[in-house]
Amino acid sequence: MENPHLELFEDFDLDPEHEETFFGMDLANVRVVKGCGKRCLHCIVPDLNIERMPFPAVLRNAERVKRFNEKVRSLVVDVFQQIESETGYKIGDFDRFWPCFDSVPEEDRQKVISVYRAHPIQSVIPWRDDFIEYPQIFFVSRLANYYDGDVSEYRDTAFLHEDGTPADYGDVFKAFNHPLRPVEFTTAGWSRTDRVAQRAMEKIVLLLQRDPRHGRSNLVNISVSRFPYMAQRGYPQYLEAMKNVIRTLAPLNPNINLFDSPDDPENADFIAIVVEPLLMFIESLSTESHFTFKSAVVSKYAGRMADGNHEEDEDIAGFSMPCYHLFPDGTVAHQTLGKGNRPTPIGERLYSLAA
Ligand code: SF4
Repeated sequence: MENPHLELFEDFDLDPEHEETFFGMDLANVRVVKGCGKRCLHCIVPDLNIERMPFPAVLRNAERVKRFNEKVRSLVVDVFQQIESETGYKIGDFDRFWPCFDSVPEEDRQKVISVYRAHPIQSVIPWRDDFIEYPQIFFVSRLANYYDGDVSEYRDTAFLHEDGTPADYGDVFKAFNHPLRPVEFTTAGWSRTDRVAQRAMEKIVLLLQRDPRHGRSNLVNISVSRFPYMAQRGYPQYLEAMKNVIRTLAPLNPNINLFDSPDDPENADFIAIVVEPLLMFIESLSTESHFTFKSAVVSKYAGRMADGNHEEDEDIAGFSMPCYHLFPDGTVAHQTLGKGNRPTPIGERLYSLAA
């Protein structure tokens, strides 16, 4: 890991046009874990077999994402400089701040916007009037690393650190995260004995705490529910595991989603034994996180929920992540916007995992 010798791993060929299509702004998701072992009863994922992207493939893919991101970074830096030289207004510093268009007096804003619109950046990050009020959305195009799997289950035991521990999700996150496209992920937690997952998440926290835009660009979600195997084995142990998960990720102000209805009588024990103590626990931490309640059903369009018995349930996953998805085995898939649409392979496979 510390000295990866990527030259030992064959790279794949991709012409510049495809590279920009698959690894540019239209890349929504690099799925480093496909399938999930958490066995949540409410989940769309029917696949308990976990497929993980080999770490050399992570690095090869991340190289391409970074190449594109760096190209856009230089465009952003250039347009900010051009705005400054043509209008006298300093708009931002790419690595440290969101651009600050509201510092420009209204009578001069059109000049600034015209410079922006005439610059090549317009074709990558088109001008939006709400950049003025909400500058944070300038960097809203995050790259996701999860879809139907849990990133905490990532590890590559064939790619080791000097201390013999496997490459973990912290290493994956570091490879893909970039100020232009901050990485977002969701986890349903990990057990307190899973040292690989624990170390991975601690690395991510440390990495983002050193980031000057820390806590403002990345999106971290924690899912809590009574449905995963870990909860089904016993609520008290699940409570302790989730306290550890929340404590570990608290510096990142994660969104904590409770997939269940607080009014469901079947849920009373879970609320009393897990949710209420967790609420108190969250209050005791210095984090802005709080619980949000979501439907217990992630989607009625796929997996175990597509049994015709869940027609009334809200679909909360159908709109997610339109555009390109990259699977662990190099398959490229495309998801179109719309309820019930899933990433569908487009017939391109970037690399083969055969030895
Ligand atoms: S809800 Fe998330 S953690 Fe649970 S089985 Fe589905 S993918 Fe895994």
